[in-house]
Amino acid sequence: MKLCEFNGGCMGCCKNRSRSVEKIKDALQKNTLEFTEYKNIKTFRDRAERSKLRNGVCLNIVMIEGRIFCPLHPMRNSGQDLRIGYCLENFFCRTAILFNQWDEIKQNDFLNFVSGQKLDAVTYSINIYDGNLLRNFRKTLSI
Ligand code: SF4
Ligand code: SF4
Repeated sequence: MKLCEFNGGCMGCCKNRSRSVEKIKDALQKNTLEFTEYKNIKTFRDRAERSKLRNGVCLNIVMIEGRIFCPLHPMRNSGQDLRIGYCLENFFCRTAILFNQWDEIKQNDFLNFVSGQKLDAVTYSINIYDGNLLRNFRKTLSI
């Protein structure tokens, strides 16, 4: 999904209610450190109880070279979805659902709008998930 990969990657739905950029970045940093230490992806995933979070953030989400991603995603595991049983793997946020319904012109307008905000990946994630970027984009359409 284009929106989930945009602007350095999105993890808006990989956190609970946390909106603290610093706490989310701290969790990402610790997850990433553990990810690099574990040789096996399943050992990494299973290192903690499924329901356990870090600063309200999923223990599986990582950030490498400025890109946020889930190592359990099927795109990274030859089609095998290692998220099953660990999250709602078919979930899409409201912004993503609406984005998918738009034509390409409107999608590109939205992506250009987002790029113009110059957000880091964590702030992007929070505001995509909360719908703030969608609301602000709509305001520009009604001007
Ligand atoms: S919050 Fe939305 S855009 Fe971001 S990863 Fe989740 S579904 Fe994708
Ligand atoms: S398992 Fe992956 S996709 Fe699911 S919440 Fe955790 S990091 Fe996000």
